[in-house]
Amino acid sequence: MDNEQNLTDIGTVKALLARHGFHFSKKLGQNFLINPSVCPRMAEACGADAGTGVLEIGPGIGVLTRELARRAARVTAIELDERLLPVLEETLGGYPHAHILHGDAMKLDLRRVVAEEFPGLRVAVCANLPYYITSPILMKLLESRLPVENITVMVQKEAAQRLCALPGTRECGAVTFAVQYYAEPEVLFPVSRGSFLPAPNVDSAVIRLKVRREPPCRVEDEEWLFRLVRAAFGQRRKTLPNALAGAGLDKQQAAAALREAGIPETARAEQLTLEMFAALAKNVEKPHTVLRSSPPS
Ligand code: SAM
Repeated sequence: MDNEQNLTDIGTVKALLARHGFHFSKKLGQNFLINPSVCPRMAEACGADAGTGVLEIGPGIGVLTRELARRAARVTAIELDERLLPVLEETLGGYPHAHILHGDAMKLDLRRVVAEEFPGLRVAVCANLPYYITSPILMKLLESRLPVENITVMVQKEAAQRLCALPGTRECGAVTFAVQYYAEPEVLFPVSRGSFLPAPNVDSAVIRLKVRREPPCRVEDEEWLFRLVRAAFGQRRKTLPNALAGAGLDKQQAAAALREAGIPETARAEQLTLEMFAALAKNVEKPHTVLRSSPPS
């Protein structure tokens, strides 16, 4: 489109936002991309093409949405901030196959959204995620087993390292194991803080999670597996038998289960592999107490 506004030009973006009386909300993680090379690279990386539908979370003023819409058969973008709806109407006016859903991505039934929005299409998720919900939204996308090929997202650099860490390394956390169970993660490229308006205090990176068709190991009860993982990392300085108390086990029970799974009692959470956690989940009976569950971090 020849005469459309350039959404990576700071002056143009500021004028557009001023015209709509818009002020950035820190609470909603609003840092808009103004580096012209990033959105085309993200759109390419998620594989958007004429046979693909792309789900975006948090379109902002539509800078990535446009790049996706230039390539994909359909783009559906979920935006929570209703003040951005008139802005998006203006910036996406020339893209009839880009569709905005007003709502909270954490609350919407995403399986239903995908089924209704992309019948007959391959599906990818592509987004510059609001940082305050990085882990919960990724876990929601993965756990709801959306029929998507990949999830290509911008996250904070530290989150990228943790999400894509190899089990057994210092960077890994509970979320590393959850991601590894559902997907094959990779860091694609770094993005400096100066690529955003306003500039955040940290650098970012684009990661791609290739969603697995089958998990790499078999477990009967995934909820129990991840409860053990969260407990182990929740108290990562403690020995494993003590840390696993967080999953409702007593110390002797936990020590016996570790022995049975062939894991040294002195091992630390980050030294375990996904297969070891799976063996642990199999060898120890889930207590019937109801524990508060929180997303892995
Ligand atoms: N995609 C745009 C870009 O790259 O310039 C904006 C990205 S900005 C980091 C995150 C966007 O997510 C904002 O537009 C914000 O309003 C929106 N957002 C925040 N929380 C959300 C939620 N729970 N559901 C949907 N959108 C949300």
